Amino acid sequence: MVLEQLGKPLQLRDLPTPVPGPGQLLVRVAACAVCRTDLHIVDGELPNPKLPLIPGHEIVGYVNEIGADVDNFSAGDRVGIPWLGWTDGECPYCRSHRENLCDFARFTGYTIDGGYAEFTIADARFCFRLPDEYDDISAAPLLCAGLLGYRSLKKAGDPLRLGIYGFGAAAHLIAQVARYEGRQVFAFTRPGDKAGQEFARKLGAVWADGSDQMPPEKLDAAIIFAPAGELVLIALRAVTKGGIVVCGGIHMSDIPSFPYADLWGERTICSVANLTREDGKEFLALAPRVPVQTQTQTFPLEEANTALDRLRSGQLEGAAVLLI
Ligand SMILES: [Zn+2]
Ligand SMILES: [Zn+2]
Repeated sequence: MVLEQLGKPLQLRDLPTPVPGPGQLLVRVAACAVCRTDLHIVDGELPNPKLPLIPGHEIVGYVNEIGADVDNFSAGDRVGIPWLGWTDGECPYCRSHRENLCDFARFTGYTIDGGYAEFTIADARFCFRLPDEYDDISAAPLLCAGLLGYRSLKKAGDPLRLGIYGFGAAAHLIAQVARYEGRQVFAFTRPGDKAGQEFARKLGAVWADGSDQMPPEKLDAAIIFAPAGELVLIALRAVTKGGIVVCGGIHMSDIPSFPYADLWGERTICSVANLTREDGKEFLALAPRVPVQTQTQTFPLEEANTALDRLRSGQLEGAAVLLI
């Protein structure tokens, strides 16, 4: 499925099968999860996507063909392809173990073609091996919702009481990890979303209510997955002194101005940008130990627009996965 014009539905196109260059894999896509970032890209909220573009960056597939100089995968291997598709390896960020901040990074399904397709090309150095405990469908959401959720959780430090604002794909995975680590999860959904709150409780949240409510006790940290800037202020008021508010999404509406008193007491606001391959390896090793259960709703590839619409209107429980 191809995005030809921002803000327009994806189009089904017959494209020639790409040929892997040196260091690349040609991967036959089995499943590709749908991420909120895909929606931001399609809606034109992220700057300068490749156009036309095949979206999708939570790809599970099988190596069909390897390019020259690939030594870490063979034909037939199952691979996971994440958001971070390429870095230069040379800039100050790459050289200080912060490749997620690389100035020249390329991103799957954004600046390079992704997985809403039968075949895709990926740089073998950025592909992951996936734990055998997960089938293709259940592994797909681990690759972004899980990975970025995990990086957000690491940024949150070592909180006992962790708030999560926006209980979608990333939250439902990372709440399980947080519980496994002995943390108490306080879930905040859209006000009135009783089903979402019930879902959060089922996943072990000690408390769940609308984001217009204050938690019964102060939080040590909060992660915001919903793309609404006003939640930053709400979360800041919910965290205790020294608390941290982590913005886990790639796009967020503007944060309204607020009194300095709300930040006072060494409270911190930070964002999470992309992922490193190290995050990926850590999380994919941890997930089967928790074990993180992914809740998915599948759609055939041709219904990618429907899946995106459901995500936009908040009608998904867990993660949408396209089956190829
Ligand atoms: Zn994503
Ligand atoms: Zn770099």
